[in-house]
Amino acid sequence: MEQIDQALSHFRSLLEEQFRRLETLEKPKKDFATLQTVTVGIAPGDGIGPIIMEQATRVLEHLLQQEIADGRVVLKPITGLTIENRLALGQSVPADTLAQIKSCDVFLKGPTTTPKGGTMESANVTLRRELDLYANVRPVSIPEQGIDWMFYRENTEGEYVLGSKGIDLPGMAVDFKVTTDAGTRRIARAAFDYARRNGKTRVSVVTKANIMKKTDGKFSAICQEIAKEYPEITTDEWYIDIMTANLVNEQIRSSFQVFVLPNLYGDIITDEAAQIQGGIGTAGSANMGDQYAMFEAIHGSAPRMLEEGLGDYANPASILKATAMLLRHIGRIQYAEKLENALQQTGDRAPTGTAEGMTAAQYTDMLMKLL
Ligand code: NAD
Repeated sequence: MEQIDQALSHFRSLLEEQFRRLETLEKPKKDFATLQTVTVGIAPGDGIGPIIMEQATRVLEHLLQQEIADGRVVLKPITGLTIENRLALGQSVPADTLAQIKSCDVFLKGPTTTPKGGTMESANVTLRRELDLYANVRPVSIPEQGIDWMFYRENTEGEYVLGSKGIDLPGMAVDFKVTTDAGTRRIARAAFDYARRNGKTRVSVVTKANIMKKTDGKFSAICQEIAKEYPEITTDEWYIDIMTANLVNEQIRSSFQVFVLPNLYGDIITDEAAQIQGGIGTAGSANMGDQYAMFEAIHGSAPRMLEEGLGDYANPASILKATAMLLRHIGRIQYAEKLENALQQTGDRAPTGTAEGMTAAQYTDMLMKLL
């Protein structure tokens, strides 16, 4: 009985915390068209991060040379997002580094190492929360198969928001899943806005609302409510289990365009989709909020590549795809398209991560001839 009382008191404090979070969700959206100067933060990260980020910086400096010269874009190095500094300070994102990141409009992040064990939170989890990056956006494209998918995964709620705050009782463990009206509205709008801006005609809402009746039921109902604001777009609904099958069904998969999903389903299905494209290293990823956006490669810091002396052969394709997404996000569409086209043309000659492949620098030399 005492343990149930403790659990109820814990549950009460979680609900109070979530109601406080709810009050902070609606913020004005940054309009890049009216910004005099866009500041792009660049943090190399750990392991192979500095090697691939050097190539991404070369590409940005080349494409944006005129705008950098005119002061319309500033590339700002962010310091202190290294595992050595984070461990020394005992902070997943040191306060000074976070302040530097918050002084930027968008942020290109190299992979960061998360220590095994211990208590240090992943830098990504901290950054998503601190910058309120509620949309995880991942494109997957296989032109020769007619596949052009865009995933909008809710990034701050669902099973993840209280993932480390569940309840352990004798013989039983309970976790919590949170879906809010405001949190669902903003991810649904982001997906439908993307569809409208890009001439897409179909948005697929993916839940498990037949089982998770309250949380996914709410997600589904709010997506349907937002869909009414976009009458030119067809909205359909799927359950996550059949959608995982649909993505490997060659008869129908190319007909899907934009997906909007709660956090956990989005986490899983975007890796499936990236694998269909050729591997998780082949995709870029964006974490977007109303005030900030963070762009990164999908892979990690690959420490073993450095130990084996293969660091220079790290593939920069994933961070370069993220760089193209960043350019698109800040409204530099013509540069984004140039980079996307060059990546597509050179993709199959990207380094393989072995000494037989090209180095990251050699690959970028080849790519830059097309820019
Ligand atoms: P990883 O993605 O670093 O490596 C997985 C495999 O892919 C390895 O064999 C590696 O050599 C290879 N690989 C990764 N990137 C490559 C590239 N650009 N070119 C060629 N080969 C590449 O995953 P991991 O080993 O599980 O994690 C290593 C560290 O990275 C961990 O500390 C983990 O927490 C962290 N991590 C960070 C992020 C992030 O910052 N977004 C994401 C995933 C993992």
